[in-house]
Amino acid sequence: PLFRHAEFYTTVNHLRDLPQTTGVEVAFVGRSNAGKSSAINTLVGKGRFAFTSKTPGRTQHINFFQLGENRFMVDLPGYGYARVPLSVRQHWAHLLGTYLQTRAALYGMILIMDIRRPLTQLDLQMLEWFAQTDKTVHILLTKADKLSRSKVHAVLAEIEQFLATNYSGHTVQAFSSLTKEGTQEAAELLQSWFDK
Ligand code: GDP
Repeated sequence: PLFRHAEFYTTVNHLRDLPQTTGVEVAFVGRSNAGKSSAINTLVGKGRFAFTSKTPGRTQHINFFQLGENRFMVDLPGYGYARVPLSVRQHWAHLLGTYLQTRAALYGMILIMDIRRPLTQLDLQMLEWFAQTDKTVHILLTKADKLSRSKVHAVLAEIEQFLATNYSGHTVQAFSSLTKEGTQEAAELLQSWFDK
């Protein structure tokens, strides 16, 4: 792992509590259960750093992890869990929407999708939200260990085609928290964002 010195920084439940950080932030976002917490844990090389969700959709707060001076990884609440009440979903949309649109320190987003179920309707909605911010987006297709090599390549090619057509500039890669496939590639990309 590239980010050995990662430390928990703060947890935020309301916009007024967002920390006054300067520097670079990279936000991690994805459907509940897609594998976001596992991906963060894999990238920072700690077993249970970002808490993997026992109750999907329950955590509605934003977790900040500090990776170095003025460098933050921001774990946004997962979306798409059906059994979340409307009021909670609205709170989430407001928190996330405002964060994405107003956060000057935000450099880019890592969108996590389960490689077996990429580009769901909510993921597409998320890409549209991102597009309004002009920030960089990288997609991690995680749980790549669940598919054959040929299937992984087929899905990757499909998503690359989709991005080239709709969101040129966005990038995508396969990833697995189980086998660590793609860890180096993702860590190097993050590093390059932090170094910008
Ligand atoms: P989150 O809700 O997006 O944070 O998802 P989690 O990281 O909690 O993962 C959801 C479930 O998928 C858990 O049971 C994980 O063990 C499993 N999982 C996450 N990443 C991988 C992966 O790369 N490979 C496999 N096989 N399972 C994974």
